[in-house]
Amino acid sequence: MLKNKVAVVTGGTRGIGYAIVKKYLENGAKVVLFGSRKETVDKALASLREENPAWEVEGAFPNLSDAKAVADEIAAIGRKYGRIDILVNNAGISDSTPTIDCAPEHFDEVLGLNVSAAFYAIQPVVAIMKEQGGGCIINTSSMVSKFGQPSGVAYPASKFAVNGLTVSLARELGQYQIRVNAVAPGVTRTDMVAKLPEEMIKPLVARIPLGRVGEPEDIANACLFLASDLAGYVTGEVLSVDGAMMV
Ligand code: NAD
Repeated sequence: MLKNKVAVVTGGTRGIGYAIVKKYLENGAKVVLFGSRKETVDKALASLREENPAWEVEGAFPNLSDAKAVADEIAAIGRKYGRIDILVNNAGISDSTPTIDCAPEHFDEVLGLNVSAAFYAIQPVVAIMKEQGGGCIINTSSMVSKFGQPSGVAYPASKFAVNGLTVSLARELGQYQIRVNAVAPGVTRTDMVAKLPEEMIKPLVARIPLGRVGEPEDIANACLFLASDLAGYVTGEVLSVDGAMMV
C-alpha cells in the first residue's frame, strides 16, 4: 500500500511508533525512524533488520526540542531520498501530575514534546512536500483530547492542541495536496500502559465496548490507512482508535 513512499516516524523505537514503522515497511515504504538516543535507535533497527533484512530502514536521533536540529535532519533525509511522502509525529510523553503539583517547567516539557516538536518537524517537511506536489502528515492525539482526564492538564491540553494543529493545518495545506490527519488512540498496550497495575487495567477494560485494550498494531493499521491512497480524500480528521471507550 505504500510502495516506494518515504516515511519519517518520530518516536519509532518502541510502542506505537515501532508498530507503525514495521507496518509501513511491510507495505513497501522506506522508513527513517527517530528516537531519543542512539542505543534505542540501534536496538530498534537491529530488531527490524533481523525480521527482514530487505527492509529499507534507517534511524536518527535529533533532539526534538531543538527546531534547527530537527530541520537539519529532515532536510538531510529529503536530500538523500529525494522526497518525503509521509511524516508521523508519534513521539510523546503522557502525564497525570495533579495541576496543583505540576511545575511550570514540567507543563512546558509535556507541551514541548507533544506539540512544539511536532511543529518543528512539520515545518521543514511541508517545504519538501510543497515542492514535490503533495504528502501526508499524521499526528498522534489521544482519547484525552475528547474527554480530558481526571488528573493533570498538561497531557490533555497538549493533545487538544494536536487536534487544533491537525484540523487547521489541513485547511492551510490542502491547496498543496498535503493531507493532515491525526490518530487518537485509546488505552493501548505499550510501556506507557504496561506500567499500570492490573487493578487499574481491569476497570478500564470494563469501559471498552470491544472488551480489550488496544494493541500498537491497531493504531498502526489506522496510520497505514491514513498514509495510503485509500485515504486520498481524507484530511483534517482526528480518527479515534479506542474501541469506543467510554469515560
Ligand atoms: P512509549 O512511551 O512506548 O513510546 C514513546 C516514544 O516517544 C518512544 O519511541 C520514545 O523514544 C519517544 N520519546 C519520548 N520522549 C522523547 C523525547 N524527549 N525525544 C524524542 N523522543 C521521545 O509511548 P506510546 O504508548 O507508544 O505512545 C506513542 C504516542 O501515542 C504518544 O504520542 C502518546 O501520547 C500516544 N498515545 C498513547 C496511548 C497509550 O495508551 N499507549 C494512548 C493515547 C495516545
